[in-house]
Amino acid sequence: MAMGTEDKAQAAKTNLVPVDPRVAAFLSGPKRLLIGGKWVEAASGKTFATVNPATEERLAEVAEADAEDVNRAVRAARAAFERGPWARMAPAERAKLLWKLADRMEEHLEELAQLESLDNGKPLTVARVADLPLAIDLFRYMAGWATKIEGNTIPLGLAEPGSYLAYTVREPVGVVGQIIPWNFPLLMAAWKLGPALACGCTIVLKPAEQTPLSALRLGELIEEVGFPEGVVNILTGFGETAGAALAAHPDVDKVAFTGSTEVGKSIVGAAAGNLKKLSLELGGKSPNIIFADANLEEAVAGAAMAIFFNHGQCCCAGSRLYVEAPVADEVAERIAQEAQKIRVGPGMALDTEMGPLVSQEQYDRVWGYIRSGTEEGAKAKAADLGFGGRGYFVPPTLFTDVRPEMKIVREEIFGPVVCASSFATEEEIPAVANATIYGLAAGIWTRDVGKAHRLASRLRAGTVWINCYNVFDAALPFGGYKQSGWGREMGHAVLESYTELKSVCVRMSPSERSA
Ligand code: NAP
Ligand code: MG
Repeated sequence: MAMGTEDKAQAAKTNLVPVDPRVAAFLSGPKRLLIGGKWVEAASGKTFATVNPATEERLAEVAEADAEDVNRAVRAARAAFERGPWARMAPAERAKLLWKLADRMEEHLEELAQLESLDNGKPLTVARVADLPLAIDLFRYMAGWATKIEGNTIPLGLAEPGSYLAYTVREPVGVVGQIIPWNFPLLMAAWKLGPALACGCTIVLKPAEQTPLSALRLGELIEEVGFPEGVVNILTGFGETAGAALAAHPDVDKVAFTGSTEVGKSIVGAAAGNLKKLSLELGGKSPNIIFADANLEEAVAGAAMAIFFNHGQCCCAGSRLYVEAPVADEVAERIAQEAQKIRVGPGMALDTEMGPLVSQEQYDRVWGYIRSGTEEGAKAKAADLGFGGRGYFVPPTLFTDVRPEMKIVREEIFGPVVCASSFATEEEIPAVANATIYGLAAGIWTRDVGKAHRLASRLRAGTVWINCYNVFDAALPFGGYKQSGWGREMGHAVLESYTELKSVCVRMSPSERSA
C-alpha cells in the first residue's frame, strides 16, 4: 500500500540521524574568517545566515567578508608565500602535511559528512561514501605529487652539443584565489586546495555563500595539522563582493574558479587588470547516449544516476538523454520508473536517496525550467514526492517530446531534470550531442567496443564515460571543452595550472668544456 503524505513525513522524521555532538558544538560557536592563521571577524563586523535546505531553518551565522578582508587575506597569503616557513619547506614536508590532513579528515569523517548534509541538503549516506572519501583521497593523491614536480633538460636545436645546458623548472604560481560552488562544498575545496598546496602556493579560498560550513571546519583541521599561518586563508562571503574583489585583486597571481559559465566570464574580465592566470570549471549540458545494443539494465540505472545523483546539481549531469529509436520509449519509461522509486527526503534521514535542492533560488530556478518545458510542449513524467511544505524539494523529472530549440534542452538546469529524445543512426549522433555551447562530459552505452571508441573520438567533451557515468578519481583529469572552461582539475594535468614553467639556459664556456 502506498504511504500517505503524513506517513511519509513521519517516516522521514523518525529516521533522522541525531546530530553528532561535535557538529552541534561547531554550529553553536562563532563562524569567523581564517586570515593569517587567526580566526577573525569580518572588518565590517557583518555576518550572514546559512540555512538547512531541508527545513529552511538557520544553521549558523557566518562572518561576511568584503573587499577589505580580501586585502587582509591576500597580504597574509603573500607574506606566507614570500617569507615564512612555507616558502622554505622541503617538498617532502609539504607532502606529509597533506597526508596528515587527509588522516585528520578521516578521523572527523562523520562530522564533516553531517555538516555537508545539513548545509547542502545532500543525503548523509552519500556524503559518507562519496564526498568525504573522494576529498580525502584527493589530498593523499596530491601529497604524492609534492615531491615529483619536475622539469626537463632540453637539448638546444641550434647549438653545438655541450655548449649549453638548458633545463626547465616548475615553480609555484604564487598567491591563488579559489572560488568554489555549493554542489560538493568540501570536495570542491579539496580539488582546489590539494594541488595548490602540493605545488607550494598559498591560498585565499572563498566557499559558496549557501554552504560555508564544511570549509570552515576543514580550515580548523588545516590549522591543527600544522600548515604554517597564512598558507590557507578562508573567507566566507558573497560572490559579488568578496568573490569579485578576489578575482580583481592586483596581488593575486591566479584564480581557480568553479561555478556558472556566466560568472566564469565575469571572472575573465576581472582578472584582466593584472592578467592573472585562470582556470575555470564551468557549466555543462552533457549528452548521455544509449544504443539499442547496450545492456539496458545497466544503461537505465546508469542514466538515472547520471542525472539524479546529487539532485542533478552536478556540472557534468547527463541532462540530455539520446536513445536509439528501437528502445527509446522503453528506456524513457524505465528511467521514469527509476525516478518514481527514488526516496526523496531530508538528507539526515538514513533512507533518503535524494535531498532538497540547496536553496530557495535553485528551487525557483529549477521549477521555472520544469514550467518552461511544459509550456513549450514537452511532456513531463515527474515522481510524486508524496509530501509538501517546508524544504526545497523538487521531484525527479523526465521530459519526453522535446525539441532541440527548447530552453530545457539548451540551458543548464542544475536540477533533477532530464530531456529524453531518440536518434536513428550512429552517424547522426555526434552533431546532435555536440550541438551545445558546453563540452564538459558525455556518456555512451553500447556493447560494441568499436562504436564506443569511434563515437568517443567525435564528442567534443573533456570526459567521456563508456558504460558508466560520474566516475571520478583524483588521478583522472576533469575539465571542459568550449564554454565549460579552461584547464583541468585533478590528475597530473592540474599541476600545470598551479605552476609557472621557468627555462634556465647556461652557456658552457669553451674553457669549462675543455677542462
Ligand atoms: P555561481 O554564481 O557561479 O557561484 C559559484 C561561486 O562563484 C560562488 O562561490 C559564488 O559566490 C561566486 N561568485 C558569484 N558571483 C561572483 C562574482 N561576480 N565574482 C566572483 N565570484 C562570484 O553559481 P550559483 O549562483 O551558485 O549557481 C547558479 C548556476 O551556476 C547553477 O544553477 C548552475 O547552472 C551553475 N553552477 C555550476 C557549477 C559547476 O560545478 N560547474 C556549480 C554551481 C553552479 P556566492 O555563492 O557567494 O554568490
Ligand atoms: Mg546552507
